[in-house]
Amino acid sequence: MFVILHADLDAFFASVEQRDDPALRGRPVLVGGGVVLAASYEARACGVRSAMGGSRARQLCPEAVVVRPRFAAYVEASRAVFALLDEAAPEVEQLSIDEAFLDVSGLEAICGTPVQIAARLRRDVREQVGLPISIGVASTKHLAKVASASAKPDGLLVVEAGEELAFLHPLAVERLWGVGPATQTRLNEAGIRTVADLARHSEHALSHVVGRAAARQLHALAHNRDARRVRRGRGRRSIGSQRALGRGSRSSAELDAVLVALVDRVTRRMRAAGRVGRTVVLRLRFGDYARVTRSRTLGKPTASARPILVTLRRLLEGARPTIEERGLTLIGITVTNLEHVTGGVQLELPVEESDRIELEATLDAVRDRFGAGSLTRATLVGADEELGAWMGPVDPERG
Ligand SMILES: [Mg+2]
Repeated sequence: MFVILHADLDAFFASVEQRDDPALRGRPVLVGGGVVLAASYEARACGVRSAMGGSRARQLCPEAVVVRPRFAAYVEASRAVFALLDEAAPEVEQLSIDEAFLDVSGLEAICGTPVQIAARLRRDVREQVGLPISIGVASTKHLAKVASASAKPDGLLVVEAGEELAFLHPLAVERLWGVGPATQTRLNEAGIRTVADLARHSEHALSHVVGRAAARQLHALAHNRDARRVRRGRGRRSIGSQRALGRGSRSSAELDAVLVALVDRVTRRMRAAGRVGRTVVLRLRFGDYARVTRSRTLGKPTASARPILVTLRRLLEGARPTIEERGLTLIGITVTNLEHVTGGVQLELPVEESDRIELEATLDAVRDRFGAGSLTRATLVGADEELGAWMGPVDPERG
């Protein structure tokens, strides 16, 4: 039997602002003016949500104080919190800048019960970093994450062994990990509103509603089947993506558009995971199935699209004679030598760099909320239909 904690800072960016400026405490605070990157609980009470447009948010909450994001302060706060998490358990898996899983199985004799560990952690984060953190305790990762969300704000919720389904089944389906607005709508239209409704359907029946892959996942989660372990070492060491191209020649502009889309996708995943990377790898497969891998190491680790794209463009340019001679059937990119932003690497960002990350984080937030198609880089505007026509099937992603 495993015991897993999911620890998640409450309204993280907004809480850091309230911590650092007493005048903001108890008041509705919005971080980010264009798109809301974070909203304090006082602002959420008016219906404001993160990723909401700034004008809509100010309409809902006219008395809100809008502050400019200070990413260096958030990275520093995150680093301090993770130092405490690392002290609390040997297995800590970072999910993002402000949340993590901790495996506390078998620590009882040394560190106390899971509830004592969680309570101490909450107190330490509050006293030493000055921030509220909510913690869910359960036997699976998924349930611990659902529990921490139920505990918010500033709470601790324990799902006792044997009580898992009693806790889970009354919840609305959108509370399950991975159920976004589109899936929720489909489930609701099929009359499935609660996790109990979900659990009453067979995986096969669900597959007609949400597709096979999602059906398998939702069916398992509804029965609290989640065998995923907390992974030491905080996740993967590289993040990549690739695209198979149809046969036939393509212009430089077309190849560049593919590269831009891949970089967007990979850097977005890096930012979501709170990772920066130092080495950029370009993988090409030519018309004769020969493959080549080229890489370059950057001066400093980044999750920003621009420096990664610039480097990949140079690498691609170097391969241009071979591409023209043999044709190109696949482009893959990978960023390796990943580090966590909490490692201190971005503590002293130059202004332009932090502005760029702010912009990109904003774009990520918008895409998360409204879907990947809602924002497209200028180079891709108008090219999407053509891309669909000349790109072959997408290869499965590789780590
Ligand atoms: Mg959070």
